[in-house]
Amino acid sequence: MTTYKEFHRHSIESPEQFWGEQAKLVEWQEPYTRVLDYSRPPFSKWFGGGKTNLCHNAIDRHVAARGKQTALIYISTETGEEKRYTYKQLHQEVCSFAAVLQELGVKRGDRVIIYMPMIAEALFAMYACVRLGAVHSVVFGGFAAASLAARIDDAKPKLMITSDAGMRGGKAIPYKHLVDEALKLAEHAPKKVLIVNRGLDREMALVHGRDLDYAELKKAHLKADVPVVWVESGEPSYILYTSGTTGKPKGVQRDTGGYLVALAASMKHIYGAQPGETMFTTSDIGWVVGHSYIVYAPLIHGMTTILYEGLPIRPDAGIWWKIVQEHKVSTMFSSPTAIRVLKKQDPAYLSKYDLSSLRYLFLAGEPLDEPTARWIQDALQRPVIDHYWQTETGWPLLSAMPGIEDTARKFGSPSFPVYGYNVKLLKDDTAEEVGANEKGVVAVLPPLPPGCLSTVWGDDERFVKTYFSFFPQRQVYTTFDWGIRDQDGYYFILGRTDDVINVAGHRLGTREIEEAVQSHAAIAEVAVVGVADQLKGQVPVAFAVVKDPSKVASAAQQSAMEKEVMDAVDHQLGAIGRPARVHFVTLLPKTRSGKLLRRSIQALVEGRDPGDLTTIEDPAALEQISSAVKRG
Ligand code: ATP
Ligand code: MG
Repeated sequence: MTTYKEFHRHSIESPEQFWGEQAKLVEWQEPYTRVLDYSRPPFSKWFGGGKTNLCHNAIDRHVAARGKQTALIYISTETGEEKRYTYKQLHQEVCSFAAVLQELGVKRGDRVIIYMPMIAEALFAMYACVRLGAVHSVVFGGFAAASLAARIDDAKPKLMITSDAGMRGGKAIPYKHLVDEALKLAEHAPKKVLIVNRGLDREMALVHGRDLDYAELKKAHLKADVPVVWVESGEPSYILYTSGTTGKPKGVQRDTGGYLVALAASMKHIYGAQPGETMFTTSDIGWVVGHSYIVYAPLIHGMTTILYEGLPIRPDAGIWWKIVQEHKVSTMFSSPTAIRVLKKQDPAYLSKYDLSSLRYLFLAGEPLDEPTARWIQDALQRPVIDHYWQTETGWPLLSAMPGIEDTARKFGSPSFPVYGYNVKLLKDDTAEEVGANEKGVVAVLPPLPPGCLSTVWGDDERFVKTYFSFFPQRQVYTTFDWGIRDQDGYYFILGRTDDVINVAGHRLGTREIEEAVQSHAAIAEVAVVGVADQLKGQVPVAFAVVKDPSKVASAAQQSAMEKEVMDAVDHQLGAIGRPARVHFVTLLPKTRSGKLLRRSIQALVEGRDPGDLTTIEDPAALEQISSAVKRG
């Protein structure tokens, strides 16, 4: 048995040997000539000269041995549909879709924008693109016309694929209508729009000559057998934008070979999953977690993947666990935000179903505070693994890796650097490494491992400037997160570098204070921001959501609760971290991927413009912040 430490060390000391070994997990049509080419830092090129295809590795190569195994289970609690596709059937669906794309002139290197709800055809469309060597840019279905138009202009697509509508909470949400608006705004509108019509929007208008019905076109290609287009390892597989929590989203460009190898290796070493098992990732295909762990990795690993359209609390808060029981899910992946939603529901749902098939629950996307981690782990009686990563990396950067070694976990910590990542915590002024229990900026010494972004789409300069220029002293990849490593080597993420609060010369991560606020049992979630203060430089101000709103209904209750929360912070962190105010709201401003928009909250509290809000989930949350501040 290798230990995690040896495994990691080997990956850093001999990256070519290490990744050459991992590359055997996948099939190459032509072998690569070099594992790593780092002749043009900070750009790393993995498996140069090798030819492969993501679709081939996820679907075609499994058809012989796993043709009859279910590859995809599509479950919609919105429409009540449930469909299964074996590897063989999925292969046919993807070939038919690819044939339609070919008919519409889509070729290797062309961009295709996919703006679709969580339906099986969205996954077929993504696979059909990579099958042909075309580059998909999936845009999250909740985005408004302006955000979609910006992504159209960035990608200059040959084609757009959409649906008439999505469904959320039982209501149809028109998609095609929004595409029409976006195409009016865009300068580089494609000539064709392909529509998967679900029959949910009867008023959908069609533009003659531009809009095409997928079901119609598919008829001529029901038995199509479209050969995969072998692409060179470095050719882009897709473009995907970051969440926009800290400003304008960045178009992450992913390669093919490196991503393929990184995903295949992660299923084995990080998730400890076995081919033939079932993975359930509750994200959306519009986010990186959805790309990597709904669409690609489970199938590359020969597993069954679940695509779920619906809310976590509908028809009731037990729906996810019912799915785990029914489909014998072994590996589940969700987010702290989703778990906090469940925290406001009846906990009895968590023990209602048989979860014995479930090996681990992985959570990523936001800091996982200790109370939430404990709450879900106790309720499920299953290990919960905190995972730290970014759209840029495509797969986890800090995590426990039970596939290699079952290391003990600490609540609040995503454990250790993942193999391939030479993670360092650096002082933000001198770029020197910090010692144990000292705060530093989370950085990765290049070359970045396979799977990470190869560049910013169409903008190499922005790639270097954004990610490798934080420190004038040395060229390292910066995550813009602040972290700390304890004496046992466990990492803790403290928040974004621009979220640090400077109270009378003491630097505190927003996350530390949020964690302390959350130690009060009545609190479901909280956002803490630093607000300018004449005396202290900055003071923390908290906006908290309580589990039971009737507990803060009156002004007297609010001030009593505010006092209790402040005491809880004093107790946990000391008076230095005590928020100057604790405001109670019912909703926090988040991006559509569920991340807190602290920068906008801070701007509002300081009376500034909240900035770029294209990715906000619900603008009403900002109004609550404004009125809370006005009430004083
Ligand atoms: P943008 O870069 O456009 O501002 P974003 O950083 O929110 O948006 P993502 O790539 O979706 O976009 O999110 C990655 C970030 O999410 C990380 O840099 C980190 O701040 C946070 N994050 C992800 N997982 C964790 C985790 N397990 N613990 C703490 N923070 C996490
Ligand atoms: Mg980011």
